[in-house]
Amino acid sequence: MKKTLFFSLFLVSLLFISPILSAQKTPKNVIFLIGDGMGLAQVYAGMVANGNSLALERCTYTGFSKTYSSSNFTTDSGAGGTALACGVKTKNGMIGMSPDSVAVESILQASSRHGLSTGVVVACALTHATPASFVAHQVNRDMNDEIAADYLKTDIDVFIGGGRKYFEKRVDARNLTEELKTKNYQMAYTLDEVKAIKTGKLAGLLYDDQNPSMPERGAMLPVATVAAIDILEHNGKGFFLMVEGSQIDWACHDNNAEQEILEMLDFDQTVGHALDYAKKTGNTLVIVTADHETGGLSILDGKFGDPKMKTGFSTKSHSGIPVPVFAFGPGAENFTGFMENTSFKAKLEKLLKLKK
Ligand code: MG
Ligand code: ZN
Repeated sequence: MKKTLFFSLFLVSLLFISPILSAQKTPKNVIFLIGDGMGLAQVYAGMVANGNSLALERCTYTGFSKTYSSSNFTTDSGAGGTALACGVKTKNGMIGMSPDSVAVESILQASSRHGLSTGVVVACALTHATPASFVAHQVNRDMNDEIAADYLKTDIDVFIGGGRKYFEKRVDARNLTEELKTKNYQMAYTLDEVKAIKTGKLAGLLYDDQNPSMPERGAMLPVATVAAIDILEHNGKGFFLMVEGSQIDWACHDNNAEQEILEMLDFDQTVGHALDYAKKTGNTLVIVTADHETGGLSILDGKFGDPKMKTGFSTKSHSGIPVPVFAFGPGAENFTGFMENTSFKAKLEKLLKLKK
């Protein structure tokens, strides 16, 4: 009799505990890392050079993202970034807009509207296509001045990258740095200045135009990513941070495999910091993917631990093949199998409980 009573109590308690357990499967924070041009071969080249190991291998779920745009079989970074950020297939060259030129809210903007802190850290100008897709709405990715001005229209807490001239030496003579200061942004022009800022809003304009490539860029991307997380995590409601390894793409446009490996390992080190944070906190979803593949790279022979390998590129442009997706943390199980590149936004909105 007693045994039955205890067993029933046990069952009843399970009923109460299980919703709590499943509720823990939603993330408070999302760190979304994009390796521009990073196909599976780009990842593997880095892995081989690094002695058959990468930090991103710690991701527990993997899948593939289909990258075609509304206008082209092979996407550019404008349409590719817009699909990831805004959940719509658009025309190549467009930023944060549907094909009929209507602005679409990005996941970063939706997060901000719901009171989460938001940030962007990139290894290129902040006006370049990938970061632009998360904060701007313009018909053409080359509209750098307009894209820079859009940073003042989104309530973004932290942005760190290059492209200072588009904020300060503009055709319309506006000085966006002065405007950012009136909006309580702290300005940083060096990595040391970035590291010194621990709270509040931060605009890090570290280079006049594009960031230098590796190895000249040093630890800018991993260090700025950790600095951004340190600031964003103060918000009890959580944060959304987008980080881009921007120049994997550029190395592959140049068909330069050794340079690709340097950029890949820099990006992977950054991914490692995001995964460390996610593991430590237990409430952070990390997603690692690409906007498209660049170069049609293949790896024909190599030796683990040696950056020199036998590679072949089939194009100086992008290719149309799907790109890998890696995920870790609460909600990571939603990012498996073949996915459209437009599927991330809705999944993240649901996981972060952002209503339309
Ligand atoms: Mg990019
Ligand atoms: Zn490219």
